[in-house]
Amino acid sequence: MSVWIDTHCHLDAPEFGADRPAVRARAAQAGVAHCVLPAVSVAHFEGIRVLAHEGGDSYALGIHPLFTPASLETDLERLDQALAACRGDPRLVAVGEIGLDYFVPGLDRQRQQFFYIEQLRLARHHGLPVILHVRRSADALLRELRRLPVNGGIAHAFNGSLQQARAFVDLGFRLGFGGTLTYERSLQIRRLATDLPLSALVIETDAPDIPPHWI
Ligand code: ZN
Repeated sequence: MSVWIDTHCHLDAPEFGADRPAVRARAAQAGVAHCVLPAVSVAHFEGIRVLAHEGGDSYALGIHPLFTPASLETDLERLDQALAACRGDPRLVAVGEIGLDYFVPGLDRQRQQFFYIEQLRLARHHGLPVILHVRRSADALLRELRRLPVNGGIAHAFNGSLQQARAFVDLGFRLGFGGTLTYERSLQIRRLATDLPLSALVIETDAPDIPPHWI
C-alpha cells in the first residue's frame, strides 16, 4: 500500500465535529500516514495544535484571508506569541493558512494585503515556510514574496498558469493539487500537473472543501 501525506486538511472544521477521530482513522486506513493541518484564525490555534498531537500530524498557525474581516490587528501579536511558544514543537511546520483571495466578492483587498504581508514578516522572523491560499491572486502573492522571501512553502489548491507555477517553484515552493484534478473539465490544471516536474507537486484534500468528482 502506498503511504500518503495530505498536505492540506482542515480537520478542525465544524463539518467534522460529529466524527473527527473516525474521519482521521478512515484516512489512515486508506494510507494517509500524515496530515498537515492549517489554522484559519487565532481562535483555532490551540485546537489545531492539540488535534495534530493527538493524530500524530503536523500543523500550521496563521490567519486565512477569508478570516481577515473578523480578525483584529492584535491577532498578529497573538500569532507571533503562539509561534514563539511552539518554537520547539516539531509538529509546527509552517505559518498558514495565509494569502490573498481575489475571487470571493466583498473582501477588502488592502486589509487582506496587510495581514498577508505582516504574516510573511512573522514567517521570516520565525524561520518557517508558509502555506498560501491562492485565488486569482498569484501575481500579487508573488510580488510580496519577492520582496519578503520566506523559507519556501506550499501554494495550495494551485490554479494558475505554468509561468506562475514556475515562479513559485523558483521561490522554493511546491504546488498543492487535489480534488480539482479529478474533474474531467479541469483541463488547465490537468495539463499543469503533467507539465510540471513531479518534484514540484504535493497532494492535498483541502477537506472538507474540494471533494473529488466521485463524492
Ligand atoms: Zn485551506
